[in-house]
Amino acid sequence: TELKILEGIEIARRRQHRFILGYALPEANRIIETLKPYVKKISMAGSIRRRKETIGDVDILAVAEDAERVMDLFTKMKEVERILARGSTKSSVRLHGGMQVDLRVVAEESFGSALQYFTGSKEHNIELRKIAIRKGYKLNEYGLFKGEERIAGEKEEDVYKALGMQWIPPEMRENRGEVELALQRKLPEIVEYEDVRGDLQMHTKWSDGANTIEEMVQEARKLGHKFIAITDHVGSLKIAGGMDEEKIAEQAREIEKVREKYDDIYIFHGVEANIMKDGSLDVGKEVLKNADVVLASIHSAFRMEEKEMTARLLKAMDNEYVDIIAHPTCRIIQKREPIKVDMEKVMEKARENDIVMEINAYPERLDLNDLNVKMAVEYGVKLSIGTDAHAKEHLRFYELGTAVARRGWATKKDIINTYDVDKLKRMFEK
Ligand SMILES: [Zn+2]
Repeated sequence: TELKILEGIEIARRRQHRFILGYALPEANRIIETLKPYVKKISMAGSIRRRKETIGDVDILAVAEDAERVMDLFTKMKEVERILARGSTKSSVRLHGGMQVDLRVVAEESFGSALQYFTGSKEHNIELRKIAIRKGYKLNEYGLFKGEERIAGEKEEDVYKALGMQWIPPEMRENRGEVELALQRKLPEIVEYEDVRGDLQMHTKWSDGANTIEEMVQEARKLGHKFIAITDHVGSLKIAGGMDEEKIAEQAREIEKVREKYDDIYIFHGVEANIMKDGSLDVGKEVLKNADVVLASIHSAFRMEEKEMTARLLKAMDNEYVDIIAHPTCRIIQKREPIKVDMEKVMEKARENDIVMEINAYPERLDLNDLNVKMAVEYGVKLSIGTDAHAKEHLRFYELGTAVARRGWATKKDIINTYDVDKLKRMFEK
């Protein structure tokens, strides 16, 4: 249809120059590790530092005694496909895979203000400059100036401090009210990356995953997780290897064996059930009752009108066994638009029924997104982070979920992955 075509064009247009955070971040980290021994200071800036879900290009800032040498190293990295510009303090390269990376070497006394300036967002920086002007200062990438005198610039924290405000985490710098709160010293204490102690969605060979339960457990332990939930597909989702009751019972016995082997991590035996068109779950009550944690999610019929889709989700949330709604909007970044749903009604229901909403941390999903997380937090709805890992390598994606949580201003108490196992058990006991 025409609408479908227009949507397709819109998605293609947006795709052109954007890269998915989850794949850009490891590349940027690798470059920073390569350059680190040769610089005094180095940091990402721009949208990647703000952990935006997609980014245009990667900005890196550094302080170095020998800028020439750093530029040499940077432009000659094996990852570089083409050098777009080579200067004494700024160079741009394109990596294999198409991503552009800009490196700037700045003076040490300007590193903080440059970091602030190049991190953005543009809208956030406009607000900061207004404050500077009100105070009779001038703010730019070289520093915060009172007349000719630089009153801050070496450290980013000092720039915010001199403007009379709290330092604002980069993930919050989108001009969504953070500047006002920082001036009042009332910024929420958003969840820290280290606060997240486990992963609440993953798949194994028992459905459509690539690894065994034990392999997932071993990898999760390497990441320092204290708990994980194995949440293989159940029911009619044959394409994803949906398990029947017999298979689930078999899986329970395997989980019990793995539990006995590892006492430093707890394994929740969960399920991911499908929400059918009418809002029912395609799996028997016994299965839901026996599972440690029940995730419910939509995997088919994405194109319903908002009214019907909202009713579908609300009905699933009225199911007494459902703990978590997984990837609630079903969007796939650059591939599939979110389902049409009245999110306020969903949040009201979640609050009413104590349903947890997932932040799916898989790079193409990031679902809920930052704005929906912010809404959940405002409604007092709890959130879970699940990587939706289908292979053990995917387990590291949990940090992307934390990034979305931070961008949505979630605090530690809002994110159930920060709880201890006993508290989670009590939550899921219903
Ligand atoms: Zn799913």
